[in-house]
Amino acid sequence: MPVAEFSLIYRYFSHLGRGEAVDLSVGDDCAILHLQPGERLATSVDTMVEGVHFPSDSFPEDIGFRAISTAASDLAAMGARPLGMTVALTLPDADELWLHAFSEGLAAAVSEYELPLVGGDTTRGPLTISVQVLGALPLGQAMLRNGASVGDEVFVSGTLGDAAAALAVMAQEWQPGADHVEYLLERFNRPRARLELGLQLLGSATATIDISDGLLADAEHIAAASGVKICIDPDLLPLSPALRSHDSRDTAVRWALTGGDDYELCFCLPAGVAPPAGTTLIGHVEAGVGVDCGLVLASPAGYQHFDDQ
Ligand code: ADP
Ligand code: MG
Repeated sequence: MPVAEFSLIYRYFSHLGRGEAVDLSVGDDCAILHLQPGERLATSVDTMVEGVHFPSDSFPEDIGFRAISTAASDLAAMGARPLGMTVALTLPDADELWLHAFSEGLAAAVSEYELPLVGGDTTRGPLTISVQVLGALPLGQAMLRNGASVGDEVFVSGTLGDAAAALAVMAQEWQPGADHVEYLLERFNRPRARLELGLQLLGSATATIDISDGLLADAEHIAAASGVKICIDPDLLPLSPALRSHDSRDTAVRWALTGGDDYELCFCLPAGVAPPAGTTLIGHVEAGVGVDCGLVLASPAGYQHFDDQ
């Protein structure tokens, strides 16, 4: 990218890099962060492509916030303490208005998650945002997918199916009341990574995953990794007032079971362990394989990018 355009980008992204774990931020060849004694680094990267992961007419503020939330959600699912992130940005052009708005979305997420932007890369091409997150875990402690045991109870945070409902609203397939529309679009455009819940669960949850592809698809990952069967009771699924306003409860439940992009946490606790506030019991763990929700659904597998290849 030409120097003038790079300095523009630098202006928008260089002030978001201060943080407790940051020794050196944007401006040099690498950023330098430090861990506390006894901690280990957890890292993950997520990419968002225009037209694939977000509609082309999304606001730049929302694109920025959402890209960070989806990446930070993986730290939440491990119970990791956020340290910082890098953002690789591919832009069709250096549109200053767009960059300004996008950086506002980044700034909101940096501040809300206390996740400083310590570096990145900027190139020209179709609009694509890759966010690499860095987090800290106490040595020997992490919430993996493989620890669920027979007899555990299964919980989720928040409400499910809202992002899928928002996509139906955007596609004009469903027209709920105006306040519900506003709520659902906010849930799609501004998902919240459950970082505090992740930290709360560390040490008690036997298995955890963030729901990015849909509850059934993601619970399946826990079942497979743990070698157990997960039984989910659709009647227990937490639905928002917006989803409960739908004429068809079946549709709402289908969104909650198979819709992706909610970024809530699904986790298992040994029976009798009190769940954190804001979470809902949805099922239990049995001997066996797979996920059983007592319903036959057309496509429980979640979104598959290479399904047609
Ligand atoms: P290099 O050629 O060494 O990779 P760059 O010119 O790509 O350096 O970047 C210079 C500095 O600006 C680096 O510290 C890099 O981390 C930072 N940077 C570049 N793009 C971004 C971005 N989109 N967000 C945050 N920091 C960025
Ligand atoms: Mg570079």
